[in-house]
Amino acid sequence: MGKLLVLVLLVVLAVWLVRRALRAGSPGQTPQPSSPEVGDLVRCARCGVHLPRSEARQAEGQLYCGEEHARLGAGKG
Ligand SMILES: [Zn+2]
Repeated sequence: MGKLLVLVLLVVLAVWLVRRALRAGSPGQTPQPSSPEVGDLVRCARCGVHLPRSEARQAEGQLYCGEEHARLGAGKG
């Protein structure tokens, strides 16, 4: 049981060291929250719903709200 506790502590320590190293590696003084272009909305060519570009699916030069609509395409009906 004692060995397991030591192992857990070592893992926690390793994770902490890695996270600290990663944080030290980034030179930015003010870390920006990673918001992927908020406001850049696109319109689904199938159903017309608006969604962020980062979540849109692209097919045949059109943008869609999901895999299913990308597969169905912009066709009428
Ligand atoms: Zn759609």
